[in-house]
Amino acid sequence: MNTTIPHNIKIIQHSLQKNVKLIAVSKTKSNQEILDAYSAGLRDFGENKVQELQTKFAELPQDINWHFIGHLQSNKVKYIAPFISLIHSVDSIKLLQTIQKEAVKNNRTIACLLQFHVAQEDTKHGLTIEEAKEILQSDDFKALTHVEIQGIMGMATFTDNTEQVAQEFEKLNTIFEELKHNYFSAQSSFIYKSYGMSQDYMVAMQHGSNMVRIGSTIFGSRI
Ligand SMILES: *Cc1c(COP(=O)(O)O)cnc(C)c1O
Repeated sequence: MNTTIPHNIKIIQHSLQKNVKLIAVSKTKSNQEILDAYSAGLRDFGENKVQELQTKFAELPQDINWHFIGHLQSNKVKYIAPFISLIHSVDSIKLLQTIQKEAVKNNRTIACLLQFHVAQEDTKHGLTIEEAKEILQSDDFKALTHVEIQGIMGMATFTDNTEQVAQEFEKLNTIFEELKHNYFSAQSSFIYKSYGMSQDYMVAMQHGSNMVRIGSTIFGSRI
């Protein structure tokens, strides 16, 4: 039992606003490290590789809510469709259609977030607001019976420039409000704003985040 992990979790939990959900990003971390976080009470874990997630799902407690946070290829959706709690990284109608198909096969509805690109690095995947609107207005989207869009996800530029990071999070906040206003009812399940990681989650919360994805501050650096 690694006592650093529960200690780190406690510190983070004290710093979170009350409405903010913590996703523990466990990519590259061992089952034992995940169990240490589980024993501290966490049930929501994020992974970015399909195969690693499949293995961990099979080996770890069944009441864990698994979040997929990496780039997702359509041909791999089938491996996570039976159990995934929330796919954060949806960036095309094609991917949504595949998720729909696999959700139907598994007789479940799969919750998804639309990922937006607001960072300066062009390595980060995601939609523009125009692309998202095109998807949400399309007949193809309206035909999806087993997909539920529950909000948005994004990443800020990796920089020490807090002002720039704040601007990018504010952009995500505005995107959320605009989509909610135009395409979802107030009572809908379009509620999550997934942004903020170890180095910037305090700034993210100041700009409306209600779901933070934290890895290294919980588990230590991944090297
Ligand atoms: C790795 C990762 C995180 C967590 O990063 P940390 O800096 O370790 O907190 C969050 N979101 C995504 C999409 C990631 O890939």
